[in-house]
Amino acid sequence: MGKPERMHEVAKLINRDSEPKIVVLSALSGTTNTLVQISDLLAKGDRDSAKDTIHQLHQHYLGFINQLVSKPENQEKARLIIAEHFEFLNIILRISFSEALNKDILAQGELMSTKLFSVYLSEIGVQHELLPALEFMSIDANEEPQLLPIRTKLNDLLDKHKGTGIFVTQGYICKNAKGEVDNLKRGGSDYTASLIAAACNASVCEIWTDIDGMHNNDPRVVNKTVAIEQLSFDEAAELAYFGAKILHPTCIWPAQQENVPVKLLNTMQPDAVGTVITKEAGSVGVKAVAAKDGITAIKIKSSRMLLAYGFLRKVFEVFEKYKTSIDMITTSEVAVSVTIDSDTFLHEIVRELEPFGNVEVEKGQTIVSIVGNEIAQTDYVLQKLFDSLSEVPTTMVSYGGSPHNISLLVPQSYKTKTLQLLNSGLFGL
Ligand code: ASP
Ligand code: MG
Repeated sequence: MGKPERMHEVAKLINRDSEPKIVVLSALSGTTNTLVQISDLLAKGDRDSAKDTIHQLHQHYLGFINQLVSKPENQEKARLIIAEHFEFLNIILRISFSEALNKDILAQGELMSTKLFSVYLSEIGVQHELLPALEFMSIDANEEPQLLPIRTKLNDLLDKHKGTGIFVTQGYICKNAKGEVDNLKRGGSDYTASLIAAACNASVCEIWTDIDGMHNNDPRVVNKTVAIEQLSFDEAAELAYFGAKILHPTCIWPAQQENVPVKLLNTMQPDAVGTVITKEAGSVGVKAVAAKDGITAIKIKSSRMLLAYGFLRKVFEVFEKYKTSIDMITTSEVAVSVTIDSDTFLHEIVRELEPFGNVEVEKGQTIVSIVGNEIAQTDYVLQKLFDSLSEVPTTMVSYGGSPHNISLLVPQSYKTKTLQLLNSGLFGL
C-alpha cells in the first residue's frame, strides 16, 4: 500500500462480503526499505544520516495521514500513534546497535500500517479487532515457523473476540525462540497470511498485490506474458523458489499442508480471476518459465569418485557446514556440479572441496526453470525445449528430480535470450 487511496480500496475489498476474515497487512510501500537503510546507517555509526532519514519518513507518514482519514480527531489520533513509533526510532539513535535492535526497527512498518488502517476502519464504521502478531506469530530456534504453537496462540486470541468478523494483523513480524521481536524475512507478509490461513483452516488465503496473478514468463524480460489461471501447490512452490517475484519463496507450505487454496489477486482489477493455487494442477503441460540470477556453479572433478561410495556425502557436508543451500545438482561418474545462490562462504567452501579433486567455479550464472504439471512425462516438451535453445550455451540440465520441473543453467548474459526463445518455443507467444 503506497497511497492512502490503496488503504481505502483495501477497506472496500474487506467489506465486499460478510465472511469472517483476518486481514494481514504489510508495511506501507517503501517503509521497510527505509527502515533497512536506517538500520544500516546506525550499524555504521552514522547517526546524523539515520536521524535525517527517520525525520523524512515521519514527514511522509504525516502527509499520508492527512489523506487517509478526514475527521480532525482521527487525524490527531493517527498522528499520536505514529509519533510513538518515531519516538521509539529516535530513542534507538542513542542506544548502541545490535541485531535485536535491528529487528525492532524493521518491525515498525507493519505496526504502523495496521494501526493506521484500524483508525481508518473505525472512521468509516467498520467493526474490527486489531490482533497483535507478536502475540501469536513465532519462529523456532532454526528460524522456522511451526504451525502448532501458532495455531494454539491464535485460537486463544480469536476465542477472546467471539462475534468479531474482521481482524487486522501485522504481516512479516514475529517473535523468535528467545522471545525477541524478529521477522519472516523480506516479503514475509505472504508467509504470515499462509501460516494464519493454515492455522485456522481458512476456506481461502487471498494474496492481494498489484499484479494480476502469476505469469507464464517474466514481464520485465519478454514482451508478451499471460496470467496462469491454475497451479498446483507443487508447481507454485517451484516457481516461487525460482524467482517469481509475486510470492515469498517459502510461503506455500503452510497452505499446502492444510490444503487451503491460495488466490493471487490484483487490487487494481479486483474482479479479475487471478491465479488459483490448489492441490490439483488443473491441466497437464508447461505452465511457466522463471529465472534466478546471481548463481554460482561449482564443479568437482575427481577420478576417486569413480565407483566410490560416500563421495557425495563428503561434498555435501562442506555446504552444510557453511549453511549454504544447493539449488541444482548434476553428476557424471567422475564429476559433480552444484549451484549455489549465496557466495558468502564461497572461498571457504572451495578451500574445503579442493582435497576431493579439481574444483572449478563459474560465477554469473542464471537458473532457468520450466515448470508445469507432469512435464517430465509430457511428449515433446524436452524436444521443444532443446530445439528452442539450440543457440544458448546451456551449462547444466536438471531433469527428473521432480515431474514438475526442468532446470537449466545458462550464463547470465544469455538470460534474456533464453526467456524470449522459450516464450515463443513453448508458449507460442
Ligand atoms: N514489509 C515487509 C517487506 O517489505 C514484508 C512484506 O512486504 O511482505 O519485506
Ligand atoms: Mg509483499
